[in-house]
Amino acid sequence: MTPKIARFLEDVRPATPCLVLDVDRVEQNYRVLSAVLPLARIYYAVKANPARPVLERLARLGSAFDAASWEEIEMVLAAGAAASAISYGNTVKKESAIARAFAAGVRMYAFDSEEELEKLARAAPGAKVYCRLLVENAGADWPLSRKFGCSVEMAAELMLRARELGLDPYGLSFHVGSQQRDAVAYEAAVAKVGMLFTDLSERGVNLRMVNLGGGFPVRYTDDVPGIDHFAHAIMGAMTKAFGNAIPEMVVEPGRFIVGDAGVVSSEVVLVSRKAKDDPVRWVYLDIGRFGGLAETEGESIRYRMQTTRDGGRTGPVAIAGPTCDGADILYERTPYRLPLALRAGDRLDLLSAGAYTTTYAAQSFNGFRPLSEHYI
Ligand SMILES: *Cc1c(COP(=O)(O)O)cnc(C)c1O
Repeated sequence: MTPKIARFLEDVRPATPCLVLDVDRVEQNYRVLSAVLPLARIYYAVKANPARPVLERLARLGSAFDAASWEEIEMVLAAGAAASAISYGNTVKKESAIARAFAAGVRMYAFDSEEELEKLARAAPGAKVYCRLLVENAGADWPLSRKFGCSVEMAAELMLRARELGLDPYGLSFHVGSQQRDAVAYEAAVAKVGMLFTDLSERGVNLRMVNLGGGFPVRYTDDVPGIDHFAHAIMGAMTKAFGNAIPEMVVEPGRFIVGDAGVVSSEVVLVSRKAKDDPVRWVYLDIGRFGGLAETEGESIRYRMQTTRDGGRTGPVAIAGPTCDGADILYERTPYRLPLALRAGDRLDLLSAGAYTTTYAAQSFNGFRPLSEHYI
């Protein structure tokens, strides 16, 4: 938690649950990433946190943006970014949305199938297109699974087809899975991309761009390697694959930019046991799976927690949300421990919760309002 957030929580005592996000930390994260990967252009993945103050700060710093829908493109434009700084990175787009983006000046699009390429040729003629490769997501706490990307062989065919259709076959992309702890995932993917560049150049198509996606981790309950470790591995792999002819590089960080800039502050609603001698207490918070903590699905993302009772003895807990849904359990298998003194009414803060929280909150499930937000 940054000192600014700690002071805000103490002085303002905002109603919970809420996200408090320090926009200066967003700027710091952007600057750190630019410094360790100076050859890469940063396209902030808007879905991680599309709040206006975040987008405005990044736009002012010269960031570009990875948007997944026409609505996200509108948000980015409204925050002052140029259409030329936007990549429409979703491989699944309505043709009407492509047409809107094109009319607004967006000229860079992702795809991973022939049907999508045909939509792009019709609705965004001449645009720069990049093909997303299916890559291993092992090592990622929040994998993007097999939903996106295609095989190397298919990507080669599709790039040739892109040229036939009058599009500009610009580059290749991949995403190694979110909260990726293993830099080898990037190295393996870059090697794949390098081979495809060579193969296509022999077939007369000279690609110019490698999009390394996002995935850079932040610290939750477990330590993760620093960003310099990933940058070093990536540059090593790029040099190995391309020698001194390194193409344009793009990264699309989401979690790394906003994750540790935000804290979700909540209130303990109930502490109970299922039997008198049960050592495990159940701690119910005023935020849960449907209030914005969707990434606790499968206990994948394990937030660090801080309470106003920290310092005393602790005991094992299961942690759940406030709704009447059985799926609204945050952690039951992960061995969390919380202070024995914890009581209803106490404040409990979830650290590094600035990414993938606010927009995941349900409208009004069980009548609970969406997570409120403070940008400071
Ligand atoms: C979600 C997403 C990102 C951001 O991923 P992080 O793991 O948050 O860095 C980047 N690119 C694409 C295409 C995405 O879908």
